[in-house]
Amino acid sequence: MDTARALSANLASLLRREHSALGAFLVALADFDRRRAWMTLGHASLFAYLHRELRLSKAAAQYRKVAAELIQEVAAVGEALGEGRLCLTSIVEVARVVTAENWETVLPKFFGLSRREAMKVVAELQPHPAPPTRTIVSPVRTAPSEVAAGPAFALPALPLEVGPAGNCTPGSSSELTDREVNTSAPTHRPAEVVPLTADLRRFHLTVSDRFLKKLQAARDALAHARPGATEEELLEAGLDLLLEKAAKRKGLVSKPRKTPPPAKADHIPAHVKRAVWERDGGRCQFRLPSGEICGSTHQLEFDHIEPVALGGASTVDNVRITCRRHNIISARRVFGDDWMDRYAPGKASLPADTG
Ligand SMILES: [Zn+2]
Repeated sequence: MDTARALSANLASLLRREHSALGAFLVALADFDRRRAWMTLGHASLFAYLHRELRLSKAAAQYRKVAAELIQEVAAVGEALGEGRLCLTSIVEVARVVTAENWETVLPKFFGLSRREAMKVVAELQPHPAPPTRTIVSPVRTAPSEVAAGPAFALPALPLEVGPAGNCTPGSSSELTDREVNTSAPTHRPAEVVPLTADLRRFHLTVSDRFLKKLQAARDALAHARPGATEEELLEAGLDLLLEKAAKRKGLVSKPRKTPPPAKADHIPAHVKRAVWERDGGRCQFRLPSGEICGSTHQLEFDHIEPVALGGASTVDNVRITCRRHNIISARRVFGDDWMDRYAPGKASLPADTG
């Protein structure tokens, strides 16, 4: 009994240190973000810094990024995490409703709650006028003998990674209800449509991995024309193309308008673009402090290594592929922040973090 008490006291002490270390880390991270120090180190975002330099998993990086941003607005969040009253896994929910104005009354409602419990508090505090639209991709596992009609099992799509779990209600952050475990329809059934409001439907669809790859390729290809497009917008754009084609076949649509793009001073010929794209493998070539390249396939741009403004030519040797964020970071390194803020206000700040 005495030994068990002593062991327990040691565990409690270790747990307090874990909470306190997490709180200190997040407060320091908030300061790091406030100074945009990740940009100075060549990273595209705080999330990229956490994932690539500190080697945190994407989920762990996302929780810490959200916490660091919230702490900059509400310092009490850092204290609550450090004291173990607030669970890091609930931070995404906390960030939805807690503000600099309301934290004194709203923040304590989340003390000791798991992520799922926090979701309920948010729903009570902030009922949605319309249910949120969402896209969840979950793998479907089907028993080999029941490929056609067997029951499918869906894994939860949200990473419910448990950080310092000491103050979270045991088990509840990773517990699954029966409904969640059995959300996937067997593969042969038609897509399921659930009415949500007069105009909104939830659409459950079982697709192949090939389909998802094409969807991602379409998103990357359209990242410029339609940044941040949702799955619905991408699919609707594709359906519009199909319908337009069908209507054209029936002679329903007049000739498409022809508006050739205006030539710019920094115009890069198509054959140069093709060669650069092939050489760079369609990935951002910006070199990180670690020596590896960024490799992002998101919002890619053709970047003049020696800028056009400084006499750089649009040749294969002088053009490379970068993601939008690294294109801006490169320009800031060449021209300096003052110049960019004055002459390129559109590039004064980095685009919103898309994770
Ligand atoms: Zn990049």
